[in-house]
Amino acid sequence: MSHAWLSLGANLEKPVEQLANATHLLSANPAINVIVQSKVLKNPAWGKTDQPDFHNIVLGIETSLTPLELLDTCQSIENKMGRVRKERWGPRLIDIDIVAYERIRMDTERLTLPHPHAHEREFVLKPLSEISPETQNWILEQAAS
Ligand code: AMP
Repeated sequence: MSHAWLSLGANLEKPVEQLANATHLLSANPAINVIVQSKVLKNPAWGKTDQPDFHNIVLGIETSLTPLELLDTCQSIENKMGRVRKERWGPRLIDIDIVAYERIRMDTERLTLPHPHAHEREFVLKPLSEISPETQNWILEQAAS
């Protein structure tokens, strides 16, 4: 089993329920165990600011999926929950990003690890520091190197 950290965000309809629903769908996957969940953090929208506030959490999981299989799983949950994919950084029912997968560094067309924006997003760093300060430090080190 490998350890990974996921960032979940929502800002439409009932964000807290959608975060709980996405967490439930992740843990319903037999290849994923949700080990730890951060507190829910409410944040102003990032990038495109004329939209409702976001609610964010970070999850620590254990998984037997590869990084790409995990991405597929996250995207299928986003699709299942009816994510609105209209504009970059626009409103969304649910967004699930892979912040880090073990200490893997990769940069491919579909997947960049650690997540290329994780180090500059307070809504990722703050919950991550609550559940895994070592991973937060590692992400900051990678960004500085
Ligand atoms: P977004 O609209 O911000 O959720 O970005 C989704 C796109 O980013 C997808 O096409 C993914 O293939 C790509 N992507 C690259 N790296 C990551 C990552 N670490 N986690 C999630 N999506 C990623």
